Amino acid sequence: MSAKSSAGGASNVWVYNFGAAGTDGDSSMRNLLGGKGANLAEMSGIGLPVPPGFTITTEVCTHFYDNGRQYPDELQDQVRAAIARIEKETGAGFADPDNPLLVSVRSGARASMPGMMDTVLNLGLNDQTAAGLAARADDTRFAYDSYRRFIQMYGDVVMGVDHGLFEDALENMKLKNGVFDDTGLTGDDLKVLVDEYKDIVRAEADEAFPQDPWAQLWGAVGAVFASWMNARAITYRRLNNIPASWGTAVNVQAMVFGNMGDDCATGVAFTRNPSTGENSFYGEFLINAQGEDVVAGIRTPLPLTKAARQDGDGESMEEAMPEVFAQLDAVRLQLEKHYTDMQDLEFTVQQGKLYMLQTRSGKRTAEAALKMAVDMAEEGLITRDQALLRVDPNALDQLLHPTLDPNAEKVVLTRGLPASPGAACGQIVLSADKAEEMAAGGHQVILVRLETSPEDIHGMHAAAGILTARGGMTSHAAVVARGMGRACVSGAGDLRFDEVSGKVFIQDSELAEGDIITIDGSSGEVYLGSVATVQPRMSGAFGIIMEWADGRRRMAVRTNAETPADARVAVGFGAEGIGLCRTEHMFFDQDRIVAMRQMIMAADTEGREAALAKLLPMQRQDFVELFEIMAGLPVTIRLLDPPLHEFLPHSAEELADVASAAGVSTETARQRALKLAESNPMLGHRGCRLAITYPEICRMQARAIFEAACAVAKTAEKAPVPEVMVPLAATAKEVAICKAVIDQEAAAVMQETGQTVEYLVGTMVELPRAAIRANDLASEAEFFSFGTNDLTQTALGISRDDAGAFLHDYTDAEIYATDPFVSIDRDGVGALVRMGVELGREQRPDIKLGICGEHGGDAASITFFEEVGLDYVSCSPFRVPAARLASAQAAIRAGH
Ligand code: ADP
Ligand code: MG
Ligand code: MG
Repeated sequence: MSAKSSAGGASNVWVYNFGAAGTDGDSSMRNLLGGKGANLAEMSGIGLPVPPGFTITTEVCTHFYDNGRQYPDELQDQVRAAIARIEKETGAGFADPDNPLLVSVRSGARASMPGMMDTVLNLGLNDQTAAGLAARADDTRFAYDSYRRFIQMYGDVVMGVDHGLFEDALENMKLKNGVFDDTGLTGDDLKVLVDEYKDIVRAEADEAFPQDPWAQLWGAVGAVFASWMNARAITYRRLNNIPASWGTAVNVQAMVFGNMGDDCATGVAFTRNPSTGENSFYGEFLINAQGEDVVAGIRTPLPLTKAARQDGDGESMEEAMPEVFAQLDAVRLQLEKHYTDMQDLEFTVQQGKLYMLQTRSGKRTAEAALKMAVDMAEEGLITRDQALLRVDPNALDQLLHPTLDPNAEKVVLTRGLPASPGAACGQIVLSADKAEEMAAGGHQVILVRLETSPEDIHGMHAAAGILTARGGMTSHAAVVARGMGRACVSGAGDLRFDEVSGKVFIQDSELAEGDIITIDGSSGEVYLGSVATVQPRMSGAFGIIMEWADGRRRMAVRTNAETPADARVAVGFGAEGIGLCRTEHMFFDQDRIVAMRQMIMAADTEGREAALAKLLPMQRQDFVELFEIMAGLPVTIRLLDPPLHEFLPHSAEELADVASAAGVSTETARQRALKLAESNPMLGHRGCRLAITYPEICRMQARAIFEAACAVAKTAEKAPVPEVMVPLAATAKEVAICKAVIDQEAAAVMQETGQTVEYLVGTMVELPRAAIRANDLASEAEFFSFGTNDLTQTALGISRDDAGAFLHDYTDAEIYATDPFVSIDRDGVGALVRMGVELGREQRPDIKLGICGEHGGDAASITFFEEVGLDYVSCSPFRVPAARLASAQAAIRAGH
C-alpha cells in the first residue's frame, strides 16, 4: 500500500508507513524522514523484524513553524489512517482496554541531534488500558512497570515535570520494600507508584495526567516539534552548522516489550568494535528491561558475546539466549553488508522474539576508523577510494600525539582554545630562557605566557607544552606549536599574571613557577597537577591508509620546517620536500642574535656587511643540514621576512648590552630602536622591502643557500634543489630586483666552487595586488607559493593576532561560515588564489604552484586547492599525514 492511498487520497503526503505490511520510505529519504525514520524504513524494507509504525515527515515540522505552529490540514486524517494500519498489523487497538496498542514517539532529525525531545515509550496507557494489559498479559508487574515508565517519560519530556521527583518516589518505594532493583517491585507496589506519579504530575504541572491516548499522542508529537526550537537544540545546531530549515521528523512505532520477563531483553550493539575497529560483535544488553535502561545505568548491563565476558559477569546474551543471539548476529552481518559500514544498533527481545529498533553508522575512534576502513576494503565490502573517504583526516592528529589517559582523574582549572593537539604535563615556567634552562636540567616544563613572540622560540622548543592567555588559533603560539608538534592551549582568558610576585592566577587557583599543570591541546582544557598521558600507537592500518592515499593523490605534500629536528619528523611522516623554511627563526639562537642585532645597529652598509659575515657560516650550516635531511627533495627557503625590530630586546638593560656588543652608545642604540619601531608592523618594513633597502641581507642569505647547496651537491647522492622565495612582493619589480641579487650570488658561488646546482627563484603570493597582477609577477617568478595566512589577513583586512577577540562573533553571526584563518575563505581569499593560479599559468605555463599557509594542513582548504589545481600543499610536520589523506580525498571527490 502506498503512502498516498493510506492517506486517503490526500494531495500531500505527510506520513510514511513502515512495517511488514508495507514500507513507503527507504534510507535515501533521510532529508524527508530523518535518519532514524529512513533507516527504520530501510530495515523494514529488507525484511528485518521491525515493529510497524510511521514517520511524520520533516516537512510537517517546516509547515508547523511557517504557519504559526499549525499542522497541515490533512495530517490528522493521515495519522489516524497510519495508526489503523498498525492496529491491523498487530491486532491490537489504540485506546482499546481489552488489547491495547502501545506506541513509542521518537524524534529524529537528518543528523542525530542531542538537545531534541527524548523518546516517550508505552504511549497509549491509561488506567483502563493498563488494567487491560495486565489482564491480557496475565502480568500486573509488567503492565504497571510500563505505565509508571510512561508517566515518568511523558511527565518529564511533554509536561515539563522534573524527572528527579519520579526517581525519588521510585527509590522510596524500593527502600520501603527492601529491594535493590526495580525488577524486585511487585505489580501491587507499582500500582501504588503509578498513583504517586499521577499525584506528582498534578501537583507540578497543574493539570492531570492525560488519560485519552489520542491526546497523549498529539501531546507527544507536538513536544517533538516544539523541541526543534528549544534553546539546547538551537545551540547544538549553531555549533554544528545545521540549518533550522531542516526540521525534525517524528516516528511513531508499535511498542515491543523487553520488560515482560526473563525471556525478554533490550540492548545496544556495534557491528564492530568502535574503539579498536576489531571485527567482532560488540555491545551490551539487559534482561527484563526497557529502552534506555542499558545506557541509563539502572542496572549494570552484560556483554553480548561470551568472549567479551569478564570474570564475575553474569551470562552473556550468547549464553543466556543462544537462539536469539544467533539471529542478532546474522542481522549484524546482513546490515553491515547492506550499509557497507559499521552500524550502531538498538534491539529488543520480547518473549524470545527479536525486534530491530534502530540502525545508523556508528561513531568510532580514529584508530578504529583506520582499521575498519582497511579491513572492509580487504574484505571487498568497499573500494579503496571509499576506504580513504571513510577516515577523517583531522582525526589522525589523535594518533600522532600523546593523549590524556581517559581513566585518569582530573581537576579542570580553565579552558582555552585547542591550539595544537596532544597532551603535555610539566612545571610552570614564565619565560623562554627559564624553560630552556629547566629543560636542560631534565625537567618537563609548560611555558606559560601572556602571548609568545619569535624570541620565545627556543623556550617553546624546550617546553613540552605552551599555554597563553591571549591569541587565537593562528596566533604565534598556536602556529609555532603546531609546527613543532608541541601541545598548546592559547587564549585562556582566565589566566592572570602577577609579574612582581611571579604568580599565576587561574580562576580561583593561585599557582607559581614550578607548580605542575597538564594541558590538553586537543580539547583546550588545563588541569591542575599531573594527569597521566598515553603514548600514541601507530597501528598497521595507519601505514596502509597512508600508502593508499599516496597512490591516489595528485598534489605533493611538503612541510613547513626550519630546524633539522622538525625536518626529520616531517620526512618520517612522509613530507616530500620543504614548502616553507622561515629563515628568521634561525636568527634567534643565543649565539646568532648578537650578530643579528649588531647588523641592525650598524650605521652603514659596511657595518651591516661585517655583522652579516658572522651570520653567513652559521646560516650556511643550517642549510647544509636541511639539504642533507631532505636528500634531493625541493627546499623552499624564504628570505628574511619580519621587521627588524622584532629582533631587538624590550628592556633598557638588554638594549644597553646590545649597544656595547655592537660598539655603539646606549643612546645610539635607543635612537635606532625607536626609529625601527612601527605603528603597524604587519604592513611595515618587512618581507622583500628589507631586501630592497638592504640588498646585502638578501645577498648574504643567497650566498649561504648556494654555498650550502654546492657543498652538499659535491658529496650527496642527490643534489639539493633550492627554491629561493621572495616574501611579501606586490609587484614584479620587487621580485626582479631580488632575483638579480640572487642570480648574481648563485653565479658567483658556482663559479667559485666549480659546482652547479639547479635552483628556482619565486615569490610568495600573500598580498591582493600580487594575485591581481600575478601575470606580471610570473614573468619574474618561477614559482608561486600562496601565503594564505597573510593573504587572508590582507584580503579581509583582519589582523590575525587581534582576530581572536571578535572573530567568533563573526562566525556566530554566520558572516564567515568558519574561521577564515583555519579554513580558507573560498569566495574571497580563494578567488584571489584562483586568479593567481590562472594568471600565473597564462604567463608561465610551467610555473610551480603551492601553498604554505596554515591552510595547507586543513582538509576543507585542501579540497579547494585540489580544485584550483595547485601542485603541492605545505603544512607543519605533524599535519603531513592528515594532508596526505586529505589530498587523496580531494582528488577522489574532484574525480581526478
Ligand atoms: P535515542 O535517539 O535517544 O536513542 P530512541 O528513539 O532510539 O531514542 O529510543 C530510546 C530507547 O527506546 C531506545 O533504547 C529504543 O530502542 C527504545 N525504543 C524506542 N521505540 C521503541 C519501541 N517501539 N519498542 C521498544 N523500545 C523502543
Ligand atoms: Mg536510539
Ligand atoms: Mg607572510
